[in-house]
Amino acid sequence: MPGPAVDPLRTVLAANGYPEFRERLRRSGCARCALAADRQHIVVDRGNPDAAILAVGEAPGASEDAAGIAFCGRAGKMLDDLFAAAGLSTDDHLLIVNVVKCRPPRNRAPHRDEAARCRPFLERQFALSPARLVALMGATALSHFAPDRAKGPLGAQVGRFFRLPDWPGHEFVTLYHPAAILYNRSLEPIAQQHVRALAERAGAA
Ligand code: URA
Repeated sequence: MPGPAVDPLRTVLAANGYPEFRERLRRSGCARCALAADRQHIVVDRGNPDAAILAVGEAPGASEDAAGIAFCGRAGKMLDDLFAAAGLSTDDHLLIVNVVKCRPPRNRAPHRDEAARCRPFLERQFALSPARLVALMGATALSHFAPDRAKGPLGAQVGRFFRLPDWPGHEFVTLYHPAAILYNRSLEPIAQQHVRALAERAGAA
C-alpha cells in the first residue's frame, strides 16, 4: 500500500536551516505552476546562505536552467564584476535568489500567478537568511516587493535605500539588473556606485 501523499511545499518549508531547504527544494519536483513543464532544473540560488546581503533577481535564464545555479551566465558574470569592483565576492558576501525558481519560456518576465505560487519559497529564503540588506535587481524584482515604486522609471529608484511595512526587519535597495547593464553599458558606472554604496551599508567594503 502506498503511504500517505507527501505535500512537497510543506516538506520543503519544514526544512531545518538553509542548506536543507536548498536540497529539498532542488529535489522537490515542484509543479506548483506551469513553469515546471519546460524546466531542466529548479534554480534555488547561488552564494552564501550566511551572507549579509540577499540579492533578488527575476528568473533563471537558459544557462541557469541548464546548470541549476542562479546567475551563472553572462548576467552573473556582470554581477560578479560589479561586486568585485566594490571589494565583495558574490559567492561569499551574497545569497542570490530569484522571484521564481524555474525558467519562463523565451526568458519572458514571470507572470503574477507564477510568482505568487513560488512566493512561499522566496519568503522562506528571507526567513532562513540572516541578511537584513536586500538588493532588488531590476524592475521585475522591484515590482514584486514594492509595486508602487515600480510604476515610474527605474532610473528614479535605483540606488535608493528604503523600507517596506511588510518587511520590517529588512532594508531594500534597487539596482539595475546586470542583464540591462550588458545591454546598455553606459549604465555600468552608476551601477558601480550603487553597488559600492550597498557594500558600505553592509559594512563589508
Ligand atoms: N537573470 C535573472 O534574473 N536571474 C538569473 O538567475 C539569471 C539571469
